[in-house]
Amino acid sequence: MTWNIDTSYKALPKMFYRNEGPREYRDLKLLKLNELLAKELGLDVQALKSEDGIKILAGAKLPEGVGPISQAYAGHQFGHFTMLGDGRAMLLGEHITPDGKRYDIHLKGSGRTVYSRGGDGKAAVGPMLREYIISEAMYELGIPTTRALSVIATGEDVYRENLLPGAVLARVASSHLRVGTFQFAATNTSKDDLKALTDYAINRHYPFLNKIENEQERYLEFLEEVVKNQAKLVAKWMLVGFIHGVMNTDNVTISGETIDYGPCAFMDIYDQATVFSSIDYKSRYSYEHQPSIAVWDLSRLADAMITLFSDKQDDAVKFASEKIKKFDIYYYKEFFNGMRKKLGLLGDKEDEDRVLVYGLLALMEKYKADYTNTFIDLTFDNLEENGLTKSDEFKKWYDLWKTRLSSEIKNGIAKENQAFELMKSSNPAIIPRNSSVEEALEEASKTGKIDKFEKLLKALKNPFEHNELQKEYREVEKTFTRKYKTYCGT
Ligand code: AMP
Ligand code: MG
Repeated sequence: MTWNIDTSYKALPKMFYRNEGPREYRDLKLLKLNELLAKELGLDVQALKSEDGIKILAGAKLPEGVGPISQAYAGHQFGHFTMLGDGRAMLLGEHITPDGKRYDIHLKGSGRTVYSRGGDGKAAVGPMLREYIISEAMYELGIPTTRALSVIATGEDVYRENLLPGAVLARVASSHLRVGTFQFAATNTSKDDLKALTDYAINRHYPFLNKIENEQERYLEFLEEVVKNQAKLVAKWMLVGFIHGVMNTDNVTISGETIDYGPCAFMDIYDQATVFSSIDYKSRYSYEHQPSIAVWDLSRLADAMITLFSDKQDDAVKFASEKIKKFDIYYYKEFFNGMRKKLGLLGDKEDEDRVLVYGLLALMEKYKADYTNTFIDLTFDNLEENGLTKSDEFKKWYDLWKTRLSSEIKNGIAKENQAFELMKSSNPAIIPRNSSVEEALEEASKTGKIDKFEKLLKALKNPFEHNELQKEYREVEKTFTRKYKTYCGT
C-alpha cells in the first residue's frame, strides 16, 4: 500500500494551521528508513525507497490529493510565554493504516514556514539521527513516544556554529496536539474555537469521553486523562533515567507520547540533579524536577481551558485544581509499580517498598553508581566491585532486600525464579548512552556512513533480552558523562 492520507486537522478553524506546498532541495539521499515501522504502517518499503518515495518523505513531492500544513501553537519556553508553531516542520498529513489507525506524518527540517520567526526552518543530519535513535530506543523500552520513519539527507548546508549537512526526519505520532496548541487557542481564538479544538482532541485520543453528556464534566475528564497519561509517561522516564531536557509546554503532548528529542539524554551515574542541556542554566528541567515541571505544564493546560470548566470562575479553578492534584496519585502509582518490578517484588507493601526503593537510590547517589548497570547487576545477582557494593550500608540494604524476596517465596506471593524473570524484563540491558550515541552521530556527520548508528540501533532493540551485543555497550565513560552537554540542534 502507498500513502493513505486524510488530514482531519484541516476541519478545525483556519487559525490553527497554514497550508504548505512542496519543498525544493538540492540532492536528496535516503540515509535511513525504518522498514519495520513502514510495514506496521502498511506502507510499501520498496515504494518508499524509490526516487518518488524519497521525495515524498522529504516533502519534495506530494502524494496525489495531499496538501500539507504547518500547525500553529504557543508555549511557555523556560517559563516564558511565546507564540510558536511549526517553524521547521510541516505535517504531510494523517496516514490511516490498513487496520484503521491514524498517525501524523511530520517532516522535520523541511524549511521555513510562516512560524519560523528568525530561523531557517532546517535541521542537520546529526540531530535528526539523534532523534531517530533515541525515539526508537524509547519505543523499545516500552515508553510512549513519537517514532522515526526516515532520515533523508538534503544535500544542503545548514549554518549553525559551523556548516552542517542538512536532513529531514519523517516523524510518526498519534498526533501533534500539545499543551501549547491549547494555549494558542486560548489566546488567539474564540471560546467556540477552543471548544472545537478540545472536541477534536477528545475524538482523536479519548473518544470514550464522548459518552459523558454534560459538556463541562466531559472537558474536566479530558483534563484528567491528559494529567494521567503525562504522569505515567514521566514516571516511565524516571524509571529508565531519561531526561527530556526541554519540557516546555509546546513539547508536552495531549496523547501522552514523548515528543521532541532535542537536548535529551539518559543519566549514567545516578544523580538527581543531572542536567545535560547546554541552555538549561537554572536546572529547570533536571532529572529530579521532571515530575513537578510536568505539573506546572499541565496547570498551563488547565489555565488555557478554564472557561470550559464552569460558568463561574471560582468553581472552574477549583475543579481544575482537583484534576491537577491527581497527578501525584497517578505518578507515584506508576513509579512504585515500576520500581517494585525493577527489584523483583511481587507483593505491594507500601512502607517497606519505600524504604527499599529510596534506600537504594540514596546509596546509588552517595556512591556515584551507574543507574542502569546497578539494576542489571542486581537482576543477575552479579555485583560489580565498586564503591557502592563494597560499602557496609549497601550490604545492609542488600540483606534487607534479599530477606524481603525470600519472604515473598515463603508466603506464597512469589514462585522460585519469578523475581529474576520480573527483574530481567524490567531492567534494560542497554540504554542509548551518551558516548555511544555521539560516536555514531559523529561518524554519520563526518563520513556519511551509518555503520555505528546501525550497530547501536540493533543493540537497542529488545533491551530486555540481555544479549551479547548489548553487553558491549555496558561500559560507562565517567569522564564523558560528567562533561557531557547536549544542544538543541536548531
Ligand atoms: P523545539 O525546540 O524544537 O521544540 O522548537 C521550538 C520552536 O522553535 C518551534 O516553534 C520550532 O518550530 C522553532 N524552531 C526550532 N528550530 C527552528 C529553525 N531552525 N527554524 C525555524 N524555527 C525553528
Ligand atoms: Mg518542540
